[in-house]
Amino acid sequence: MQNTSFFLRQVRALGATGHSRLRKACVAVIGLGGVGSHSALLLAQSGVRELRLVDRDLVEESNLSRTCLFGGSDVGKPKAEAAAVFLSRYFPHVEGIPLFAQFSSSTVRLLLEGVDLVLDCSDNHSTREAINEVCWQRSIPWVYAGAQGFRVMASAIVPRRTPCFACWSLPRTGESCSLVGVMNTAVAVASSVQVQSAVDLISQGRSSLEKKLFFADLKKGVFVTKPLSKNLSCAVCGIKRIT
Ligand SMILES: [Zn+2]
Repeated sequence: MQNTSFFLRQVRALGATGHSRLRKACVAVIGLGGVGSHSALLLAQSGVRELRLVDRDLVEESNLSRTCLFGGSDVGKPKAEAAAVFLSRYFPHVEGIPLFAQFSSSTVRLLLEGVDLVLDCSDNHSTREAINEVCWQRSIPWVYAGAQGFRVMASAIVPRRTPCFACWSLPRTGESCSLVGVMNTAVAVASSVQVQSAVDLISQGRSSLEKKLFFADLKKGVFVTKPLSKNLSCAVCGIKRIT
């Protein structure tokens, strides 16, 4: 693969050094729904060394309109395993490790051992809080991304350099994609923004989404970023937190 033209355009864009860093990287993708499947595909195409594919759910027919790693014959199979099979077929240069598991304190050691970066592709606040705490403790950068309806949000969190997720995240509203729906267009944008941030963090050590929240409303044509501030009393990273 190294001697073919497969990565030619990417190397021209990223530079040989940045591409080489990508080829050595191990990334965990937490959640393999719409956002996670697209992000895993983009990362596999970009040539990362290893993908940890984490999901505890089975493929359902209702997933197929916005995912890109599954077909009708995969319905009923574990998402993690179906994703690994797809990726190994088309991207043999990537080691896809399927992990049929929920991200929790009891599984985190297995899921994140040796990981360079984490992509949050979950669809719930409690998993993001868990990712935030573990990544902060282990100094692992991670990229938050979410899609709901026509809206997209994303941010890069780098422990000890940016505000953490708990510093600025909104309280739980009880809304979920299964209740309000989500467009496949929003999912694809969320993945593109997320993976670009991940590629930047791996290849050059920084991302333009650090200390910023990317927000888009595709129906309204709104694309903005807003600055994020550290909360000194944050329960996870604040210097004034009560322990
Ligand atoms: Zn914080």
